[in-house]
Amino acid sequence: MEFRDLKQQYQILKKEIDQAVLDVMSSATFIGGDPVTKLEQELAAYVGVKHCISCGNGTDAMSLVLTAWDIGPGDAVFVPDFTFFATAEVVGYCGATPIFVDVKKETFNIDTEDLIQAIEEVNRKGKLKPRAIIPVDLFGLPADYPAIEKIARKYNLQVLSDSAQGFGGSIDGKKAGSFGDVATTSFFPAKPLGCYGDGGAIFTNNSDLAALLNSLKVHGKGSYKYDNVRIGVNSRLDTIQAAILRVKLQAFQDYELAAVNQVADLYRQALDDEFRTPQVPESYESSYAQFTLILDSSAEREFIQHQLKEKDIPTMIYYPIPLHQQMAFSALSLPERALNNTKELCQTVLSIPMHPYLKEADLTLISETLIESKRSFVIK
Ligand SMILES: *Cc1c(COP(=O)(O)O)cnc(C)c1O
Repeated sequence: MEFRDLKQQYQILKKEIDQAVLDVMSSATFIGGDPVTKLEQELAAYVGVKHCISCGNGTDAMSLVLTAWDIGPGDAVFVPDFTFFATAEVVGYCGATPIFVDVKKETFNIDTEDLIQAIEEVNRKGKLKPRAIIPVDLFGLPADYPAIEKIARKYNLQVLSDSAQGFGGSIDGKKAGSFGDVATTSFFPAKPLGCYGDGGAIFTNNSDLAALLNSLKVHGKGSYKYDNVRIGVNSRLDTIQAAILRVKLQAFQDYELAAVNQVADLYRQALDDEFRTPQVPESYESSYAQFTLILDSSAEREFIQHQLKEKDIPTMIYYPIPLHQQMAFSALSLPERALNNTKELCQTVLSIPMHPYLKEADLTLISETLIESKRSFVIK
């Protein structure tokens, strides 16, 4: 059994993907060109924003935005403590200080009460200048943007939405990628919309910011490639990846997003009596980058994970270490914060197989094995 079945997906889309790749090879345009331009238009239309700027990966996408905002030493950027490393890494990489904020156990996303406390703490100390919030759409569920955007206005902060896992999700029909001042996503193969290598994109309605990002990602280009008006980087989405993504975006819209939501409903029907399954608030839609259970203890998690492995059912722990405890941040003198929910989640979360091609027989086997293991752990 696969945790995320990219082989099956390829078999289903093979004819179209193969043709798309061959067309790029025949055209011999490997950087830029039609597939990239068209993909950017299609992504912007899907997300519902004016501009999509494709780039090398989801981490670069965030770094480019922080560079465009001139965020650096002396600046504070608020990030959830429970997320993939890259969310906070980009803050450290540009020389700014990440301030870790706790998440809510119900949604795995940034806790807006704790966010306010964290901002107030930084203001009280007066050493760092609060500049931005990076909410994450963890496991496919959009963060609480209505509350976050209000907080950002009150404290005069920018919002960069890290939607690497959120692509396809929505609040009141408004798509992930359209929240905040700017949003970024990743096309890493295992993300909700993945390519066959690295890829990423930035979404915004701000035309000046879009122009600046388009320059920064290609060596700070000015009127053309060999007119360089600022220091930038080289971070482009390959043409072949764009061609593959156009095929996959169509499948994502046509049936994949609906399929993962159906799998989630079936999991809930089977597991809700015995397990804490992901909560999706009213008017929210998740794209289920992961389906993550919260268990009662790390001992129970270890036992259940082992039982599943015996039946060849793959599971993952996203994430085992709170970001504030990562060695990479140990040199920063970070404020002491409680972050209790994150600490607890790192001990108790378990992600189970989730993808649009999960067979009902596999889903039944996974659910039954989970329930049996949980019961036998209690008895022990
Ligand atoms: C995957 C991921 C990223 C980074 O994306 P890459 O394309 O791998 O650089 C950033 N943030 C989150 C939350 C992610 O899951």
